[in-house]
Amino acid sequence: MRYLSTRHNYDTVTAAQAIALGMVPDGGLFVPATIPAVQELSGGTYHETARTVLAAYLSDFPPASIRYCIDQAYNADTFDTDAIVNVVPLDGKRSVMELWHGPTAAFKDVALQIMPHFLAASKKTTTDNSHTVILVATSGDTGKAALEGFKNCEGISIIVFYPHNGVSEIQKLQMTTTDGSNTHVVAVRGNFDDCQNGVKKLFGSQALRAELALRNCRFSSANSINWGRLCPQIVYYFTSYAALVKNGIIGAGEKVNFCVPTGNFGNILAGFYALAMGLPIAKLICASNKNNVLADFFATGRYDTNRTFHRTMSPSMDILISSNLERFLYEMTGHDAEQVSAWNRSLQETGTFEADSATRARMAGVIEAGWVDEAEVLSTISNEFKRSGYVLDTHTAVAAALCERIDARGLHTIISSTASPYKFSQHVLSAIAGETTTDEFFALQRIARISGMPVHRALSGLRDREIRHTRVIAQDEMEQTVKELLESIDP
Ligand SMILES: *Cc1c(COP(=O)(O)O)cnc(C)c1O
Repeated sequence: MRYLSTRHNYDTVTAAQAIALGMVPDGGLFVPATIPAVQELSGGTYHETARTVLAAYLSDFPPASIRYCIDQAYNADTFDTDAIVNVVPLDGKRSVMELWHGPTAAFKDVALQIMPHFLAASKKTTTDNSHTVILVATSGDTGKAALEGFKNCEGISIIVFYPHNGVSEIQKLQMTTTDGSNTHVVAVRGNFDDCQNGVKKLFGSQALRAELALRNCRFSSANSINWGRLCPQIVYYFTSYAALVKNGIIGAGEKVNFCVPTGNFGNILAGFYALAMGLPIAKLICASNKNNVLADFFATGRYDTNRTFHRTMSPSMDILISSNLERFLYEMTGHDAEQVSAWNRSLQETGTFEADSATRARMAGVIEAGWVDEAEVLSTISNEFKRSGYVLDTHTAVAAALCERIDARGLHTIISSTASPYKFSQHVLSAIAGETTTDEFFALQRIARISGMPVHRALSGLRDREIRHTRVIAQDEMEQTVKELLESIDP
């Protein structure tokens, strides 16, 4: 399988090259030249299905290497369920696909547990013997998922910067207690934007580049637009469908909808690839929170980022530019790279672009979209708990709320659950019990008591774990800090 740029501004590359490079050097995202069809995939384990799906996309990886990556990523140490992704029926017409059984209790684990192994394997295939230094700026959740994914990965180190007083107590503890010989966690006195701007400067620093070259090191990112993060997400669409068939909830070949709480458009795009590969999906339902750029886009054809940015209870969906949409537009225009480039230029220059009617019609055949306000998120968590006893997190609740409103045409809908309710415990506790507390650990205990659901193991022992990372720096000390940390790396 070859990969090319959504803007046709780069040579075609192998999967290993696409993963090692991340994004296309002059802008654009790597996409597979064709979408492979797969035969019957029902009945296998998560690992078997992963081997089939991933081999179709990573055709330049030896099968033994793919198997190794899968086994390293998905096992009893990393995931708390043998199924890796559990599918829980709520009633005859709705199920929840739980993507949060990994080491940090959120959906990003599914991709970030395996992507570092792909990167290590890609470096071998491309005979790149440099040491990779992953730089991450995080507002909380992505940092921990990246740390867990990259820790102890050969030939790779990871440095995470987070805003000193800008993350929750639990998020902070999750990061500062990370073990592994190659992990570095640094608190920056400033907010998330300061961290992100600081990291951008590090990537652009000439002085650091010279220092890195001297040490045979190279910077990279764990960005969600890397193909190595996207393709593992295709797998759970197949396994979840197969689980429903196996349990007799749907018949083999029967169409279903997937309803996905969306931010960067990665999760739902993986669903599109599954559909294009032959999985019987009727509609992909794209659920947004108050940051409703995508809902407006699918309704009007106009993508408009000139609007107020809202901080919501579902922070991982607080996004105005959904990077992975570019891959979807590339498919929906029949691989019209010129059109995709023009839209991207317009987005850069004016913050907007407008899709043509043919593209809009094609998108409407695949996607239904909508958005949900904050009050409805809370009432949905509350109502679902009363109705089925199931506890939704604030992101999943956005999808569940939209699912109520959309005409499913009598089909079964699988709601994508992207975080454990324990991850956003204060909002969840207030929704299911009307109780408020500023003590996050107390909120965990209360939810467990009220729901009977055990606290996620990623969070339950956290208070007793040893704190290993205590460095706090000023924003202008980021470069010096990286230099110091490079001293400790011996490639
Ligand atoms: C990242 C994330 C999302 C959004 O997923 P995208 O692939 O960016 O659309 C939704 N919920 C949670 C909890 C997340 O961490």
